[in-house]
Amino acid sequence: MNNIIERFNKIKSNIEKLKPVSNTKIIAVSKTFPLDHIKPLINYGHLHYGENKVQEALVKWKDIKYEKKNLQLHMIGKLQSNKAKSAVQLFDFIHSLDNPKLADILSNSEKNLGRNLKYFIQVNVGNELQKSGISIGELESFYNYCSKEKNLNVIGLMVIPPNDNNSKKYFKTLKDLNLTLGLQDLSMGMSADYHDAVLFNSTYVRIGSSIFGKRN
Ligand SMILES: *Cc1c(COP(=O)(O)O)cnc(C)c1O
Repeated sequence: MNNIIERFNKIKSNIEKLKPVSNTKIIAVSKTFPLDHIKPLINYGHLHYGENKVQEALVKWKDIKYEKKNLQLHMIGKLQSNKAKSAVQLFDFIHSLDNPKLADILSNSEKNLGRNLKYFIQVNVGNELQKSGISIGELESFYNYCSKEKNLNVIGLMVIPPNDNNSKKYFKTLKDLNLTLGLQDLSMGMSADYHDAVLFNSTYVRIGSSIFGKRN
């Protein structure tokens, strides 16, 4: 069997062991890898893939997305306003909603294109200067703006925790915030920390290198 599929199945069974009744979905993060490298997993039947650049994703996924209507593409990287419309055209989920201007453009693009995506609001849980995401203090009003005024289907919160070995603390914070807002889904956990994320009720883990190998 192909290595990619073996590694994917191992992660799947790890998650099932951690949370036997969980509904955690694995987003196979395929950024930087060519379609040929990803194909075995697509043919195996896996449906969720993550990319972090709109242009790269368009080139890679446009045709195959058209052929396989049930594939679900996730935009997990920072989304520039000028790429938002193309993103609405291609993706099914956007995990990096984090400012009102972006919400405005996404909302208009949905109307123009007749599309309805699912959104995660990215939270800058460690208040890191260089990181994307809305601050915890602004989260509730931003959530209301997106969901009530802009009609965006916000299904949960997303986090990339600071690199300080405290992911558990940040995952717990996100889980609590999600509960306060009454949201169902959580996008958290990567190759290195998905075990902890699953224990804090993540519903979408974003896993790249542990499935596809090291990126250049
Ligand atoms: C690249 C990336 C991942 C996957 O990271 P791995 O460590 O390879 O699993 C997850 N989330 C985001 C936002 C990413 O950019």
